[in-house]
Amino acid sequence: KKQHITHLEKNRMLAELSATISHEIRNPLTSTRGFLQLLLNSELSISDRRRYVELAISGVDQSTTILTDFLNYAKPSINLQEQLDIKQELEQTVRFISPYASDSQVVIDISHECDAPLYILGESQKLRQCLLNLIKNAIESMPNGGMLSLRTWKHPSAVQISITDTGVGMTSSQLKSLGKPFFTTKTDGTGLGLVVVMSLIKRMNGKISFSSSLNRGTQCSIIFQLK
Ligand code: ADP
Ligand code: MG
Repeated sequence: KKQHITHLEKNRMLAELSATISHEIRNPLTSTRGFLQLLLNSELSISDRRRYVELAISGVDQSTTILTDFLNYAKPSINLQEQLDIKQELEQTVRFISPYASDSQVVIDISHECDAPLYILGESQKLRQCLLNLIKNAIESMPNGGMLSLRTWKHPSAVQISITDTGVGMTSSQLKSLGKPFFTTKTDGTGLGLVVVMSLIKRMNGKISFSSSLNRGTQCSIIFQLK
C-alpha cells in the first residue's frame, strides 16, 4: 500500500526539523558568544586574545557545518570515514566547552589510560557534536557545580569513553525515556540532543549506554571499534 504524507504530518516533520536545527546550532553559538564576551576584557594577553578568536571562529564554523548537514539530510550523503583519535577529539571538545563548565562551577577531570592514540573510523564533526551534547547534558545536570570526569581506555579491539557527572541523576523511568524525541526535563530543553547523539553513534557503529542514580549522578559510556 502506498503511503501518503498528510498535510498534518508534513507540518509535524517541519516543526521537528526546525527544533533540531535550532538546538544543534545554539550550542556552538552560545560558546562563541562566551568567547566574544571574554574578548571584551582589555587586560587580555595577545595569546589569549588569539585563542579566544580562534575558538569563536570554530564555533561559527561548527554552526555552519551543522546547518549544511541538516540541509543535506534528505540526500544520501557520502559517509566520510576519517581515522580519528578519540583522545584528541575529546580534548578538542573539552577545550571548546571548558568556559561553559567553569561558568557553572563544574570541574573537569580528564584522563586517558593509554598513551598511544586510539583510532576509530568516523566523522570528526559528528563525533564532536555527540561529545558536545553529552558533556553539555552532564554540565546542565549540575546547576550548583560538581565534577565532570572524562575517561578513555582501550579494550583488545575497542575503545571505551565514559562521561560521568555528579549531577541530579535520573529516575529509572527517566532513564528509559532517554533518546525519545522531545523527552526533556528542562524548561528550555528540546529533548532532541540525545536523539541526534544516538543516531550518529549508531551510524559510526558505536554503542552507547547510560546508568544513573537519583541525586548522585549519571554515567554515559560509549564503545567504538578500534581501527
Ligand atoms: P535536552 O538537553 O534539550 O533536555 P536531551 O535529549 O539532550 O535534551 O536530554 C533529554 C533529557 O535527558 C534531559 O532533559 C534530562 O532530563 C535527561 N538527561 C540527559 N543527560 C542527563 C544527565 N547527564 N543527567 C541527568 N539527566 C540527563
Ligand atoms: Mg541536551
